[in-house]
Amino acid sequence: MEQLPIFLELKGKKVVVTGGGTIAARKADLALRAGADVLVVAPVLGDEFHALATTPRFSHRAGTPEAADLDGALIAFAAADDDSEDRRFVALARSKGVLVNVPDTPDLCDFAMPAILDRSPLVVAVSSGGASPLLVRLIKERLESTIPAAFGDLARFLGEVRDKVASRIGDLRSRRRFLEEIVDGPVADLVLAGDAERAHAELSRAIDAASAGAAAPRIGEVYLVGGGPGDPDLLTFRAMRLLQRADVVVYDRLIGSRLLELVRRDAERIYVGKAPSRHELPQEEISRLLVRLAREGKRVLRLKGGDPFIFGRGGEEIEMLADEGIPFQVVPGVTAATGCASYAGIPLTHRDHAQSCLFVTGHAKGGRVELDWKTLLQPSQTVAIYMGLAMLPELAKDFLAAGADPDMPVAVVENGTRPNQKVVTGTIASIAEDARTAGIKGPALIIIGTVVRLRQKLAWFHPERDAAASAHGARTISAPAE
Ligand code: SAH
Repeated sequence: MEQLPIFLELKGKKVVVTGGGTIAARKADLALRAGADVLVVAPVLGDEFHALATTPRFSHRAGTPEAADLDGALIAFAAADDDSEDRRFVALARSKGVLVNVPDTPDLCDFAMPAILDRSPLVVAVSSGGASPLLVRLIKERLESTIPAAFGDLARFLGEVRDKVASRIGDLRSRRRFLEEIVDGPVADLVLAGDAERAHAELSRAIDAASAGAAAPRIGEVYLVGGGPGDPDLLTFRAMRLLQRADVVVYDRLIGSRLLELVRRDAERIYVGKAPSRHELPQEEISRLLVRLAREGKRVLRLKGGDPFIFGRGGEEIEMLADEGIPFQVVPGVTAATGCASYAGIPLTHRDHAQSCLFVTGHAKGGRVELDWKTLLQPSQTVAIYMGLAMLPELAKDFLAAGADPDMPVAVVENGTRPNQKVVTGTIASIAEDARTAGIKGPALIIIGTVVRLRQKLAWFHPERDAAASAHGARTISAPAE
């Protein structure tokens, strides 16, 4: 080990920082956040110090550092950003026995500053002993995405209940096993979801069961998770975490194989989707299935395409859970309209084109689409139609009959955000024929509005081109559309 990592208690201790620039401000800020009394010595302070200067524990002495500045200091930062100035200060600090750090100059440092992931009270520090700051940053980014922001809440919660758990479960080994269950179970889930009240109630229940000698019967839970339109990169951190913890995943047609690969390996997978032409598993049956699985004590993840609350019948699925008192949480996802729009280079709103955007369903009840034409045909508006492909010829006719401009641009985005994404553009008059000629089968999202024209300039995602390019070992990123 190159260096010894330690966490320093700075409350009530003095820290000296030299320099009035950005780097000095950052070090002063860190020390203040850790509770130190901070003295900054510099001729003048830059704007970055504005917010810090009002902190009561902050003081500034205008001038160059002197030995007396270091009286009673525990550590110091030489951040004047001037080599000879910093070296002089390092010598001064050492002569007073104060450990000193010079940012980005490992050779002069008595201690290194790690990359810090702050989920207070949980703190992760990463260092490569100066070997590769780049690698350190990379690791920090990975940790950022795997350690949810709410882990700080969880750490605080566990700290709060520690005494209570210890007083009720005396045996050390039982207590450890109990806490392991808690950290990986519904109590932690509730804390991470921000419901401290229910977390405390659930914890008390588990303690009662454990101290009565019974293993707490695990109550199941349902996670209604939006999986986004297909590209797994668009999942939320929370969705990712729950995919790793589910005992069983219930999914349907819109979920691509790349998303399913992210499910915990030994989780059970249940397919409940049907092709649109065939009979679908009735909603009620799916809800009953979720209730039954949760009653068996399982963590059930109901994975929906896009966002569960946008044409996803998510509301209906959790209604029965609520009635039956089964705990559940809902995790939003990127909906098809925003996913397809971004990946096709079509901003849904734009100052010069559209001040509003409507999400509507083109799904026909009894073979006829019922739409509110007055609302749909507003000027300066984009309309995104879900489930409209099957009825596209009728829809286009209805738009024209209702007075829409036949030249109004339309895009059909098939398999949006996936490697096989296909975009067909045309006008209201031509689009049904264009989509048919291109062999579009869906899932597809229809976007109507002048914003579609912007695609010429803004499209960046070209699966065919990218696939061909990467097959040749290259990857083009920025070539314009068509
Ligand atoms: N809850 C989903 C929508 C479900 S309705 C969401 O928020 O996106 C199903 C319709 O969504 C499809 O008929 C299609 O219109 C659209 N859709 C879903 N995924 C899509 C994709 N990857 N590309 C294009 N359209 C998609």
